[in-house]
Amino acid sequence: MHDESHPETQWGLDTLAIRTGHHRTAEQEHGEPIFPTSSFVYESAAEAARKFVGEEPGNVYSRFTNPTVQTFERRLAALEGGERCVATSSGMAAILSTALALLQAGDEIVASRSLFGSTVSLFDKYLGKFGITTRYVELSDLAAWEAAITPSTKLLFAETPSNPLSEVGDISALAELAHRHGAWLAIDNCFLTPALQKPLALGADLVIHSATKYLDGQGRAIGGAVVGPDALLAELFGVVRTCGPCLSPFNAWIFLKGLETLGLRMQAHCDNAQRLAEWLEAHPAVERVYYSGLASHPQQALAARQQKGAGAVLGVEIRGGREAAWSVIDATRMLSITGNLGDVKSTITHPATTTHGRLSDEQKRAAGIREGLIRLSVGLEDVADVQADLARGLDALIR
Ligand SMILES: *Cc1c(COP(=O)(O)O)cnc(C)c1O
Repeated sequence: MHDESHPETQWGLDTLAIRTGHHRTAEQEHGEPIFPTSSFVYESAAEAARKFVGEEPGNVYSRFTNPTVQTFERRLAALEGGERCVATSSGMAAILSTALALLQAGDEIVASRSLFGSTVSLFDKYLGKFGITTRYVELSDLAAWEAAITPSTKLLFAETPSNPLSEVGDISALAELAHRHGAWLAIDNCFLTPALQKPLALGADLVIHSATKYLDGQGRAIGGAVVGPDALLAELFGVVRTCGPCLSPFNAWIFLKGLETLGLRMQAHCDNAQRLAEWLEAHPAVERVYYSGLASHPQQALAARQQKGAGAVLGVEIRGGREAAWSVIDATRMLSITGNLGDVKSTITHPATTTHGRLSDEQKRAAGIREGLIRLSVGLEDVADVQADLARGLDALIR
């Protein structure tokens, strides 16, 4: 298995996704073993003592480490090109643990305005209680990022491309800005995954994942992870180990199976999304399609430079406001009407009344969330069938 002439460090993405950390035993070649155990046992008192104080590597308790979880961590670290990964119980736990590890009272975050809703609540409602403040800026406006930075700024935080309007943030430029001001840059890489975008290679300090989305890819489990350099991840590991938002070995096993097909799935998601985006853009009931794979996208050059593909989340502005958007959603028979994304099943959402429903009209206007906007997370069904499901409502609008 260990061919020195072609070491793991030279493996391609698909091989890393299938083989990294693969725990092959005589009994088990196919299928990663699950270790559903809360704690671990030792041959002697002396061995237990060495493992408890960390003099000898090994497992103590599954809140600290678990072999199945570690295999997932090793594999995701390899895929993102990071030194170390710490898995967490959810994507939100990954973001919370990052904040607890890096920040203290008085510190400031500068973040993109277009963030996952719970991330905004975490920053404002909960971190705010502990004296950590967050300023929000337009993702692509570098001057606004710079203007929002103060001597107390410790963390820059962004998702790119943004949800649901596919705005692209320049990761290299944000990393340069962060480092010039003595801050870290964390990128939530949920929408593209390492199959399509590698933020660490572009200069980001940390990559954050909701494994719930494309890493699993089949809507089966909740989990998250943070990837980055040893120095930062050691602190983060301390947070997870002490505070307890650890990943269950069962969920880690599901994500390992998900990762095996990551490259293949992401390519297929992109192909389907591209075809659907082009078709939608040409449909007379559609005012505009937001997707970084389209020639009409205002940041084509940056997207092409930074991303290997545009992902599968589309914003589609339907002519006729909320009534028209809802009629398209309600005319579907196959698509899942839900707020989730990153599944093999295509999903359809009306952001203004669901994912972004708690925003004031003013905030919606600022975020570009209009009443006619629908969000599609394009799955892996035959794209002709997804198209037919959408055509029913769209064609009725122009009759
Ligand atoms: C879903 C999501 C999260 C939160 O992840 P959970 O696993 O639901 O906790 C964070 N960021 C983005 C971009 C997401 O889509």
